[in-house]
Amino acid sequence: MKLNLIVHILVVFVLITSCTKETVPISKEIVHAKPKISKTVPLFDGKYAYESVAKQVSFGPRVPNTPFHLKCKDYLIAELSLYADSVFVQSFEDYIEGEKVQLFNIIARFKGDNPSKVLLLGAHWDSRPLADEDPNPKKAAKSFDAANDGGSGVGVLLSMAKSFKTEKPPVNVDIVLFDGEDLGLHGSLEYFCRGSKYYTQRLTPLNRPSHVIILDLVGDKEAQFIIERNSNRSAPSLIRSIWSVGAEVGNGTFVNQIGTDIYDDHIPFMEMGIPSVDIIDAELVGNRAFNPRRRYWHTSDDTMENISETTLSAVGKTVLTFIYQHYPNL
Ligand SMILES: [Zn+2]
Repeated sequence: MKLNLIVHILVVFVLITSCTKETVPISKEIVHAKPKISKTVPLFDGKYAYESVAKQVSFGPRVPNTPFHLKCKDYLIAELSLYADSVFVQSFEDYIEGEKVQLFNIIARFKGDNPSKVLLLGAHWDSRPLADEDPNPKKAAKSFDAANDGGSGVGVLLSMAKSFKTEKPPVNVDIVLFDGEDLGLHGSLEYFCRGSKYYTQRLTPLNRPSHVIILDLVGDKEAQFIIERNSNRSAPSLIRSIWSVGAEVGNGTFVNQIGTDIYDDHIPFMEMGIPSVDIIDAELVGNRAFNPRRRYWHTSDDTMENISETTLSAVGKTVLTFIYQHYPNL
């Protein structure tokens, strides 16, 4: 018994000393760990996002070389100027099948706490010239409201600009509204994404973004954001982080599933080696949606009827939470 007791005491002593020895380096490591940056996420004004989609639609189709396009440009510059540290326009001429078009990329810069990282948030603001997927030939020969295909991404970004004004972002942010995304002809990629191609061809070390997030078709009342396949290859850590935040605050719209490849404004950046993500309701593209109401891509039915403030807010809150609480630590 005595011997047993002595053995017990020895065992306990050895355990205590070995535990003590182990805890020293662990606690040292904790003291020296880099603190995680997690800023307060500013509010996202969903009503303003919705109203700004409606405002864009109210000008008429924002087709290049039309007065509606110019009016909308002035509106977007005026709105962004209320919130950004600087706003400027990259104006350029382009040729589509020999026809000259005047295009404008609108750029808004926001200074963040840490200027060594630049996050570019983009959406296209132009409307497609023709509703060429419309089954009605008369309607297919005209342009359309493009509330979701163009209007929605811009609406979310305008409202995010407002949020950046209330709470400085943790990194530098560039909001870029690309022109000429939807000038492409059926069956060819050549004339799509004119604004983002122009922008990336003129990147310098001073304005080269660290990462890119594009928003497109982000306003449908039953939106589903499945992971776009190119984005998953290009920026897997951003994808994991955005979709896990989306599962928390995205109101059921972010689906943790990998879908198809989409050619969108993120591709020119990916081709420059910049990790890029496209948040897009991909089921709409090609009009293969299970729900017949959702088969309105590039048709005259792309109207405000389909747009929901709840979806715009789900996307805005997800991207804002990602930026303020996760992006600086990636
Ligand atoms: Zn389109």
